[in-house]
Formats: sequence, structure tokens, C-alpha cells
Amino acid sequence: MSGLDSRQLDALVRDAKPAVYWSDRSFAPDVGDPIIGTHEGDLVIIGGGFTGMWAALHAAEEQPGRSVHVVEAERIGHGASSRNGGFCEASLTHGLLNGLSHWPNDIDALNRMGNDNLTALLADVERLGIDAAVETTGTMNVATEPWQVDDIAEYADTLRAHGEEFELLDAAATRAEVDSPTYLAGVVEPHSCAMIDPAKLVWGLRDAVERLGVIIHENSRVISVDELGAALTVRMSAGSIRANRVLVATNAWAEPEKQIRNYVIPIYDHVLMTEPLTTEQMASIGWGARRGLSDWANQFHYYRLTEDNRILWGGYDANYYKGNGMGPEYEQRVDSHVTIAGHFFDTFPQLEGLGFSHRWAGPIGTTSKFTAAFGTKYDGRLAWVAGYTGLGVGASRWGARVGLDLVDGKSTERTELAMVRRKPMPFPPEPLRNAVIQFTRGQIAKADANEGEPGPWLNLLDKFGIGFDS
Ligand SMILES: Cc1cc2nc3c(=O)[nH]c(=O)nc-3n(C[C@H](O)[C@H](O)[C@H](O)COP(=O)(O)OP(=O)(O)OC[C@H]3O[C@@H](n4cnc5c(N)ncnc54)[C@H](O)[C@@H]3O)c2cc1C
Repeated sequence: MSGLDSRQLDALVRDAKPAVYWSDRSFAPDVGDPIIGTHEGDLVIIGGGFTGMWAALHAAEEQPGRSVHVVEAERIGHGASSRNGGFCEASLTHGLLNGLSHWPNDIDALNRMGNDNLTALLADVERLGIDAAVETTGTMNVATEPWQVDDIAEYADTLRAHGEEFELLDAAATRAEVDSPTYLAGVVEPHSCAMIDPAKLVWGLRDAVERLGVIIHENSRVISVDELGAALTVRMSAGSIRANRVLVATNAWAEPEKQIRNYVIPIYDHVLMTEPLTTEQMASIGWGARRGLSDWANQFHYYRLTEDNRILWGGYDANYYKGNGMGPEYEQRVDSHVTIAGHFFDTFPQLEGLGFSHRWAGPIGTTSKFTAAFGTKYDGRLAWVAGYTGLGVGASRWGARVGLDLVDGKSTERTELAMVRRKPMPFPPEPLRNAVIQFTRGQIAKADANEGEPGPWLNLLDKFGIGFDS
């Protein structure tokens, strides 16, 4: 375990820039002007994250001549899409185990669609010439407590039963991949995930859709969508767009489509980025295969290398703020950053002396099933897609396709899935919402401290097929 005390960790965290590393780089594009005046279009997409950008791309490519507008409150990629870990997973269901527990009848179809989606996403990135720093390394889940060793072995059995490729590793083999004294076992999934640079991807998609004629309005927060005769009117403070179809892709935000808030809540997930590692520091941890890593706890960490050999270290302390609190005031919770900084040096004590360059947090939109929710309004002329929980980098491309199917009134294999047709159980209204979530977070921490044993409350939630995760 590391020798750093809380004062030293606090100082290290405060030395880091309070900004998102991915978007704090010299090549970040300028932000566009707000929309002014009245406009017309065939399709308006609200929200310029991955979901919005993929939807714009496929709408414009598949129906050339269709007039498509994207309206973004801040800048393209302002939300989760440029703040994440960049684990671009094939899973559409927040992992195989979660998918099996909620959609057992559809899991093989969902896995097939997820694998096809990842292949097609990587092909799109290549075809469009986007430099998203893609590394097709796969991932490794590690056990850091004795109870997790058995869990990981059981997980490997499930992967085998579903024809997924994996390699189960003992402690020595896990440490040969990446050297941490905390590792007791690991499971490698070599093809389930590509590591990407999220900001480069979302900005590359922005350039691609603009080349196709999509009109992007940044700094333009949508206040309302109203039905006016045969058309829908999307209103911003200084402008409006009259359109035939509207796709809402605001994920953790629930304006202008308030029904999203019944099913999707914002959870703030915290991230640290280190300074680039020296050659000696890299040699001290190994990590030659450069896979994305996660540990197996309920409150888990995820971590990865960047192109210039920094370590992105995130997760564990996912916070919900009463009344669905969202905003910049929740992005710099020093206590959370200090907690995860301590875990970083527990995992890699040989890196003591390394500093953090950036610290940030971002809103994860989570549902009670940890998989995206879908809805429609105005006879299907408006559709919404939101709530991938912590696994939306890849799944958002698929979610965007579902959103387009819904808004175009198409019945497809995707729209027939129970995961699309049935909404997850809604969260209770406030003040009960906050009380239940904080109690559940406490119970999850307790389960981790008690060899993963869930206890009566988590078992009860499980019976109803609901939970809380990041
Ligand atoms: C810290 C963190 C780490 C994560 N790590 C991973 C990971 O490694 N792998 C993974 O698969 N997933 C990860 N995720 C989740 C993943 O990033 C998201 O699921 C995904 O980016 C969702 O994309 P989106 O376009 O649906 O939403 P967002 O990117 O959140 O986009 C929504 C957009 O809507 C805009 N908006 C909101 N309201 C309005 C309005 N009224 N008018 C106009 N625009 C509006 C917002 O400004 C925002 O830009 C992580 C998330 C976070 C926060």
C-alpha cells in the first residue's frame, strides 16, 4: 500500500488543473455562435454528444438532401462524450452479466448487435478519416480481493457459455500484464473493446457531419419543443426551428423532454489524469498490451493509458445530488478526487512521485437497469434516447440508430427488442429519490467491504430487477 497520507494526496489533487484533460488541448475547435431567428428543417437533433453526432451522421448519409440541424446547449461534446474514459465497448447492456439479468431472451441478439456495432463504428472512424487514437487492445478485469477471484472465474464461465473470447489469468499472469501488488487474478477480453480518445472522436464526427451539410448550432440551449399543426417547433432563447421530426439526445439532462427524468438520473463520476509517465515509470508497471483495466468491486475503478502514456484513473465514487443536481459546481469535489488518488497509489505504489495534470467529473445518465431507455411523443415524431449509464461510448452509436428508427417510424430488429419497447422502472420522485439512492450507495459500499455479499436491501432491489451503478 502507498505511503502517502491524506495531506499529501490533497496537495497532489489541488495541484492538478480543474479541467477536462481531453478538451483542454490546443486543437480543441472554436465554439460556434448561438442560433438567431427562425429556421426550418426536416430533422432537429437536440444534444451534441456521441448520440447526437452519430444520429446526424447516419441521417445525413442515408437520406442525402434531408435537412438536419444539431442544437447543442454548450459545445459539441460538452457532456459525458468528452469527459469519459474512452472505453469503447461492444456491450449494449452495461456488460454481459447485466444484460443477462434483464434481457435473458434477447441477450444473444444484443451481443451480436453490439459486436456488429463496434466493428461498424471502427469502420466508420477509418472511412471518415477520424484520428480518434484508436487502440484495439481489449480490456482486463482484475480481482483485488479474494472474493473477487471466484467471481471472475464464474464470469469467465458465463463468457464461455456465450461464445465470447477470453483468457483467465492467475495472480502472476495478471501481474505480468500490468504490475500491481493488489492483483490476485484477471480476465482478459481481447476483442470486446477498443480504447479511443473521446474528444477527438466527437470532434471528428462533428467535422464529418458538417461536410455532409448538417447545420450545427452551439451555445443554443433548447427551452421547449411544441406541436404546431403538422410540425414541431424547437425553441431556443434567440431562435427557433420548425421541423418534421425531433430526436432528443440529451442523456443525463432532461430539458426539454421532462419525461426522461422519470427514468434517467445524473450521477457524477470523477476522473484524474496523471502527467505522462517516464520510460522508467512505464517499465515499472509493464502494461505492454495497453488494455483498458477495471477492478471487479461494485464500486469499481477504470483506468487506461493515453497516447502520450498518461494514466486516466476514474470511477469508484459516483455521486448523486439531491433534486437531480447538475452543473459545474458538481465537477470539482476534492474529497472524491482525493479518495481515488489514494486508490491510485495503493494500486501503483511504484509510481509515487508522479503528479496529476487534470481533475474533473462528468454526468453519467443512469437508469435503474443500467441500459439506455427510449421513448416517443407526438405520434412518434419526437423520440428520445438516454441513460447508457457508464457504458455509452460504443452503445451510443447503436442508440442513435434506434432513435432514428423510432423517429422515422421504422420497425426493425432493434425497435422490436424488449430493451427498446419496455422502459426501465422509474426512480421515485424527490425527496424519496435522494434518500433511496444515498441509502443504496451505502449498502453497495457495505457489500464491497463484506466480500461482495449484497445484504437484504440490495437483494430486494435485485428481485425487482433494479439497481444503482455508474
Ligand atoms: C466521467 C465519465 C466516464 C465515462 N467513461 C466511459 C467509458 O470509458 N466507456 C463508456 O462506454 N462510457 C463511459 N461513460 C459514459 C459515456 O460517456 C456516455 O454514455 C456517452 O458519452 C453518452 O453520450 P450522449 O451523446 O448520449 O450524451 P452526452 O455526451 O452527455 O451529450 C448530451 C448533450 O446534450 C446537451 N444538452 C443538454 N440539454 C440540452 C438542451 N436543453 N439543449 C441543447 N443541448 C442540450 C449537453 O450539453 C450535452 O452535450 C462515461 C461517462 C462519464 C461522465
